[in-house]
Amino acid sequence: MAERPYIVGNWKMNGTRSMLSEARAIDRASQRLMKVEVALAPPFTLIHATHKEVEQIGVGAQDCHAGEEGAHTGDISAAMVLDAGAKFVILGHSERRQDHGETNEIVRDKTESALAAGLRIILCCGESEETRDAGKAEEFVTGQLRASLPASVAAMLESGPETLTVAYEPIWAIGTGRTPTVADISAMHRAIRATLVELYGEDNGSAVRILYGGSVKPDNATELLSADEVGGALVGGASLSAENFLGIVMAAVDLPE
Ligand code: PEP
Repeated sequence: MAERPYIVGNWKMNGTRSMLSEARAIDRASQRLMKVEVALAPPFTLIHATHKEVEQIGVGAQDCHAGEEGAHTGDISAAMVLDAGAKFVILGHSERRQDHGETNEIVRDKTESALAAGLRIILCCGESEETRDAGKAEEFVTGQLRASLPASVAAMLESGPETLTVAYEPIWAIGTGRTPTVADISAMHRAIRATLVELYGEDNGSAVRILYGGSVKPDNATELLSADEVGGALVGGASLSAENFLGIVMAAVDLPE
């Protein structure tokens, strides 16, 4: 694995200022765990406060608009989340694709805009249960990835692999307590790796981290993080409590080198 494991918490639509104590606890513990890179994506309303509260961990957004500014009531641009203290943005999460009709083209435009603003990207992809049962999961996920990546990623990767992280999140595993087998996760991560190498060459394509997301908990983290080509985890529900999230971070710390 080229980089340190990357463990990212996605708070989704959870959290008011009372949750900052969890962010603080995660940050304080992470200061002693340099083997792992830790980050949190709180809701927009807590980005600035979280950024002010923490010293070690990364802070990011869960979405941004593709436009730079203008008449988009209720939307937030990449420059705005950067200004609030975010260093990265999660794009293409299946809940955005489902709840807001985000297509691959929209995700690609958002990715382009966020990269141009100077944000790192966590790009999500993942299949439905129906697609997996039909035996089309790899074809679907790699197609989704290709269609969501703008051409500008290639140049950005020249300046550092941390520009892009891919998160494989099977939709049927998110928030359900169900997870794919380690063999299935490894097979999908290898297919994503092959796609990245084809798009960006051996060096840059191999250096991009691929996270697994979907019902990662302290008690299954070691097994899931040990799967081939898994460079960390994107964690929803279990990131809302410092105790649970740090259990996952500790599993990453204890992985064999
Ligand atoms: C997510 O939505 O990114 C996620 C992985 O959620 P959970 O960990 O709750 O399955």
